[in-house]
Amino acid sequence: MPSPVRSFSAATIAALVVWIAPTGPLSAQAAVQSAPISAVRYEVTFDPTTAATRTLRVGMTFDVTGAGPVLLSLPAWTPGAYEISNFARWVSNFAATSGGRALGWDKLDYDTWRVRADGAKNVTVTFDYLADSLDNAIAWARGNFVFFNGTNIFLYPEGRSTDFAATVTVKTDPSWLVTTGMKPAGAARTYTATNYHDLVDMPFFVGQYDLDSAQIANKTVRMASWPKGSLKGEARTTFWDHQKKILPAMGAVFNDIPFDTYTTFIVFDSTSGGGSALEHQNSHLGIYTPLLTESVLFPSITAHEMIHAWNVKRLRPADMVPYRYSQPQPTTWLWVSEGITDYYSDVVLARSGVIDTTGFIVLTQGKIEEVAATPPVALEDASLSTWIHPADGTGYIYYQKGSLAGLLLDIMIRDASDNKRGLDDVFRELYQADYKQKWTGFTGEQWWAAVSRAAGGKSFDEFNAKYVDGREPMPLASVLPLAGFRLTVDSIREPRLGVSSAPDSSGVRVVEVQPGSPAEAAGLRPGDYLVQVGDISVRDPSFGEQFRSRYAKAEGTNVPVKVRRGDQSIDMQMAVRLALRTEQRLTLDPKASAKAIRVRKGILGGGT
Ligand SMILES: [Zn+2]
Repeated sequence: MPSPVRSFSAATIAALVVWIAPTGPLSAQAAVQSAPISAVRYEVTFDPTTAATRTLRVGMTFDVTGAGPVLLSLPAWTPGAYEISNFARWVSNFAATSGGRALGWDKLDYDTWRVRADGAKNVTVTFDYLADSLDNAIAWARGNFVFFNGTNIFLYPEGRSTDFAATVTVKTDPSWLVTTGMKPAGAARTYTATNYHDLVDMPFFVGQYDLDSAQIANKTVRMASWPKGSLKGEARTTFWDHQKKILPAMGAVFNDIPFDTYTTFIVFDSTSGGGSALEHQNSHLGIYTPLLTESVLFPSITAHEMIHAWNVKRLRPADMVPYRYSQPQPTTWLWVSEGITDYYSDVVLARSGVIDTTGFIVLTQGKIEEVAATPPVALEDASLSTWIHPADGTGYIYYQKGSLAGLLLDIMIRDASDNKRGLDDVFRELYQADYKQKWTGFTGEQWWAAVSRAAGGKSFDEFNAKYVDGREPMPLASVLPLAGFRLTVDSIREPRLGVSSAPDSSGVRVVEVQPGSPAEAAGLRPGDYLVQVGDISVRDPSFGEQFRSRYAKAEGTNVPVKVRRGDQSIDMQMAVRLALRTEQRLTLDPKASAKAIRVRKGILGGGT
């Protein structure tokens, strides 16, 4: 999500503007190695004083156990958020001392500090970190609250093993809370990790927020939400009801629940155009518009991120084992790591009764429509290219298209095995053979061999060549009926504004006004912020749906449109005009065979 940022509309995707930095250290620096260090301790201070400047005060103390300068680096990205962010950008006031004596330092490259220990045995480095990025891979502070990721602030010794243990102590106001997936270390607000990968995979909440916990499937499940009181009443009860249902359903897919505690971190902010969350091994952190809790997207994102605790945080492609923090780590397999995770999000919601068959159909049809509206792209290519955020709209389509590929593979396996096996078996096998045994990551050969085995030896070479490596349209119309689904193509007339828009931190910005459209006739211009159409707020995640249904029969009438242009608020009148759109509609096939119905029930019920 950022990304892996899970984005929920083409508009959100279009809104992502990312500065791509030169990639990673120069090859000449590959051999560069820090002096060895040990006894690594980090200290993070966030209290009412540092909160006033949205700053984290970071300290790192260690013993130097060899000669030469100490080279300390910050990651360029957070695993799961497949983009280069260069967290060193937000560092200021860097200093290095030993026993109160200042040590010399300079930069070796833009994210590496070279500290001259000069024989000092014990060294402390300190810096300030500006927490003003409302991005689930970075750090963000408000008066009484901060969230941050370990990748943002925990320096590592360049060119040394990541297998070093460390502790983290958080200093804060005595009345404020600290929550993280890290293991408590005994001392107050002190936590421990046995290696750098675990250390940076456990984000923190510090400050004033709501915190609940429950025992589910013999695990401690927590929910931390900010601001206080933002998730209350029925919405909070529903969240917990869903947790009780989905965690066991996920465990059933993999025959394992690989964590002792799981924490859902939630930040509500009205500038969020929708919702996006980032997965970790025993938590996820999501940033949502407050309106999202009423939408199926909320449990859907929650389930997606939790499934990542198995698929990606533990079972993942060999290309991403181990994570390398200093440079991009592209893989052709995000269609499995993200797309099929999204398929399982739908499946788990259905299997646990959070959604019914109709809900599953609606989610699947939405993906079919998004793929249809995107230029043809191979799943492998889309997976690889996400790092550069392609401008043609294909940069995140491996979510929806990969999810559909998961559905097709599940159907084909179940069809070939008379519903005795499904995609669950592929994941179970790989999870056991790779994550539980050797953890080197799965290869393409292993993946396709497991798929083929589950399908009784059926070859998937053609599927791979055409739809994964190739750009051919996926065989939805021929495969979906094997699970009792039917895909029909309808032409529908519906109201259309004639603008493309994208949410940013100021609102929903008009990016383009189509010539000859009602929006152009009304006087809308690119750069305007859409506020309201009729009585529907454009910030409502279901704005498009509401608009289309409200004005479906209003051709020719005028609708009031509220727009912000600079600091001016403008009221316009816009004529409703209907335009033709082709819609692929997914329904239950009334003529489905008994076998197809068994396959469908297997998918939606979890059985074979
Ligand atoms: Zn994801």
